[in-house]
Amino acid sequence: MVNLYSWVKGKPSTSRVYLEDSYVKELDARVLDYVLEKGNKYYVVFDKTIFHPRSGGQPSDTGFVVGEEFEFEVLKALEFGEVIVHYGRLINGSLEKDIVARQLINWNHRYHTMRLHTAGHILDYAVMKTYGRVLNTLDANHGPPESYVVYEAGFLPESRDLPIIEKYANDVVESSKPVKTYWVEPWELTRRTYNAPNLQRLPARDLYRIVEIEGINAIPCTGTHVINTREVGYIKVARVERIENGFKLYYNVL
Ligand SMILES: [Zn+2]
Repeated sequence: MVNLYSWVKGKPSTSRVYLEDSYVKELDARVLDYVLEKGNKYYVVFDKTIFHPRSGGQPSDTGFVVGEEFEFEVLKALEFGEVIVHYGRLINGSLEKDIVARQLINWNHRYHTMRLHTAGHILDYAVMKTYGRVLNTLDANHGPPESYVVYEAGFLPESRDLPIIEKYANDVVESSKPVKTYWVEPWELTRRTYNAPNLQRLPARDLYRIVEIEGINAIPCTGTHVINTREVGYIKVARVERIENGFKLYYNVL
């Protein structure tokens, strides 16, 4: 077993290209290091990446890295502090440090998660509109097969509330709001965010990335999003489930 925590120690932070442009599908990146797990499974780090790791309720990207001498399938990307580790299968050839290879993400999967993630932020707003206040979130999965957001609340939405939440959400989709991202310093957080859950329990950072759906909400988030709410498509609120300390709202994008 590879101890990834000690393996990534001292490695330079990975430049996360997906944070600046979520629509980049291919990118040339340099192999900084790799280590064999077993068989043909390796962990690889690059100087930069378009692979979003599993974090913030968003599932990992998958895809391929193709060099002149090798082909590597990325099964998942993992976040170790500032370093993104790519776990996968060497299909042929051999890995080599310092060579430049082409990263290709599974775009259909990524674009689906972008639509689902933006839909999740829109749901936060729709739930706020329905109950008159921002509810903190406890968990989320902005990916297939079942997407959901867990809200902290002392009540369970009634079944007649679900079409109301759905209506508020789709009004936002149809109003074609731009979705913007920008970085702010900690002291600017309260001024630059609005209608945002979980502000009281943000991890300490030098900079926070804000995802703003114009006029709807501005939330600290490191996920990948569509650039206009139109791209989300119809948001279907599927069902609600009671859980400890709140409720789990299942949704989909059609
Ligand atoms: Zn988010």
